[in-house]
Parts: sequence; structure tokens; C-alpha cells
Amino acid sequence: MDSHPGNLYLSPDKSLGIFVPHEFNIAARNIINEVLAGASTAGPGLDRDVLRNLTRIVGQPTAQQDENGPPVVLSRDEALHFEAIMAQFDLRYDLPDRIKRTCPVCDTTTIEDPAHLAQRAKDIQRDHDRNTFINNVAARQLIDSGHTVEGVFRMLLAPKKPSLDLPCHVCGGRQFDRSRTTFCPECHNRRDEFLLLQCPYCEHDFVASVREHIWTTGANALLAFNISYKQSAVINAVRALDRYALDKQIKFLLGHITADTSIFGVARCALIDNRKRDTVLLVTSECICWSSKRFLVLTEDSSLKWEEVADVSSNTLNDVRLALSDGRTITFASFLGDGRALGVGASDRARAFDAQTIRHLITAMGGG
Ligand SMILES: [Zn+2]
Ligand SMILES: [Zn+2]
Repeated sequence: MDSHPGNLYLSPDKSLGIFVPHEFNIAARNIINEVLAGASTAGPGLDRDVLRNLTRIVGQPTAQQDENGPPVVLSRDEALHFEAIMAQFDLRYDLPDRIKRTCPVCDTTTIEDPAHLAQRAKDIQRDHDRNTFINNVAARQLIDSGHTVEGVFRMLLAPKKPSLDLPCHVCGGRQFDRSRTTFCPECHNRRDEFLLLQCPYCEHDFVASVREHIWTTGANALLAFNISYKQSAVINAVRALDRYALDKQIKFLLGHITADTSIFGVARCALIDNRKRDTVLLVTSECICWSSKRFLVLTEDSSLKWEEVADVSSNTLNDVRLALSDGRTITFASFLGDGRALGVGASDRARAFDAQTIRHLITAMGGG
């Protein structure tokens, strides 16, 4: 699956901005769709026409093929509505996260802490594993002592895993409906609604309480998008060159990308200094960095700043040999496939990864 850089949204006057990673865009659109489908709201409802319009904007990977946008400039109403949607992520993170358990028979509700439930599930699993083990040992003994039928029967009758649920304390029922709930930080009333805007009891403004975490300056939002755009371009290029590239390899390369870095290209080679090394390389305006696969799960990573490189040469096989300022050399050889020229943030967008490019970079970056 392709990596998408996410979207950049700006306020009407472009002074404020939000960078939203792709996964959050999808989640935001799902929230809007839930609200349009009738999910409950704490506080005055949002305008359905504006929301409908937002679903057409949010969640679509931005069409731009450029790290500089163009961003989505929201109208005033769209900005307010989008802010309310994005606030839900921060609110659910900040506020206590509880589960409301309702018995469908007698309507008794209980509040559960998901963290406690997880611990209880773990305890139950541990007891269950131990009991199963004891049972199997007992069954094995029966089989070994000639009671084969009884032993096999006992194995089949492995202890049942107890239910995670305590029965309803009113009617003893064991089937429940569950939904998420939380509490108002001001009046401490329970809030069962799906969308939290304003507390109906005390008028606590949920959205305003997290507003400063949602918006940043337009310039900062653009920077965040810019980095994400480059990262996505590198991820997609590496995956195109090597479907089985390890996440660790990609992570290492991404660590060399900043807002100021121009990304020239990604390549893959099979040899470094005549040693077999399945390697992905990233060439930026600041450095050349590479990560090799070792023994299926390990990686071997390294990087060189252009200041450290004194000269570059290549042969008829297109091997790239770097001569370092300290006298060492390093040769990348047996390039697999064509390197991907990304040209993100570079003035000359057509540059590929080859000796010529590297020579040009060394000169340009003041190394040689
Ligand atoms: Zn009940
Ligand atoms: Zn309240």
C-alpha cells in the first residue's frame, strides 16, 4: 500500500494551519460520517451541510505532487467544524476512557475501566493456560498408563476459559451491550455522547479546552506537511525498489530527512566494497545514507555527510566509488533496478542517483 503524506489545512486567512497525517484524515472522515448517520452529540449540533461538504475534502489524499501544497484552505464554517472533529482525538486522549456496560434484560449499567479489563483478561488467560497444561499432563499420564480412551477424552475436555464478564448483579445475565463513555472535567457528569462539543449540564466547552493543541501557525503546518511529504516519497520509492525492505531500514533513512533537506533519490545495490550487502541508499542535499539487510532481521546502517567526501568516480558498470577526506574509500556496486529520482525540494528535479549526481553534489555542498 502506498504511503500518503497526509493533508495540510489552513484557516481562511492562512495564518493558522493543521497538518493531518493520512490515517487521522481517514479517522476524521469516519467521525463525520458517524455524526451524519445520527451519532449523539454533547452540545449544540453541527451543521449537516458543512459536515457533508467536509466529507468531500477530508480523507482524500491531497492531489498535490509538490511538498509545498497547495493546501486546502477552509472556509470559516468549515474550519470551526473541522476543529470540532479534530478535537475529539485530543479529548479522548485527555479524558478518562471508560466503557459503559448495559444489561439488555434489566437495563442495569456498570462502568468499566478498559485498562482493568485488559489486566483481568490477562489473568484469566494465565490461569487458563496453567489449567490446560495441568490437564494435558494428567491426560498424558492416563494415556501412558494404558488408559488411552480416557486420556484422549480428558484432553478433549480441556478446561473451558471462564468468561471475562462478571454476571449482571441484578438479573444474573451474561450478555451485555458496551459503549464508550467519559466524564466532564468540570461538573463530573458522565458523558455518553459520541461527539463531545459542550457539556449540557455545565456548558464546559470541550473543543476550546484542546484548541491550542489542534492549530499551529500556517508556516509550521506547512513544515510538518513538507517533512511528511518527503518521508512518504522515500517510503514509496524504497518499497518500489525492494518489496521486502525492512521497516528498520526505512526508519534509518527517514531519520536523515529534515524540513531543509532536499531529497535527490533512492537506489538499491547488492555489493558494498565487494561484500554482499542488500542495501537501500538515500541521497539528500546533506548526506548519503544507507541501510543493508543482514541475516533477515538485522540491519547495518551508515551515513556520510558531503563534507566528508572528497571525490567520486565510477566505472563502466556504474559502480560508485567515494573517496573520503580521511583517505578511506567505499564502493557501492551491482545496483538493482534503476534508482528513483525523487527531486523533492531540489531545483533540478530530474536528477537520478548516479556518480554524476554525486559529483555534482560534492561540488555544490562544498566537499571536494
Ligand atoms: Zn441485568
Ligand atoms: Zn459538565
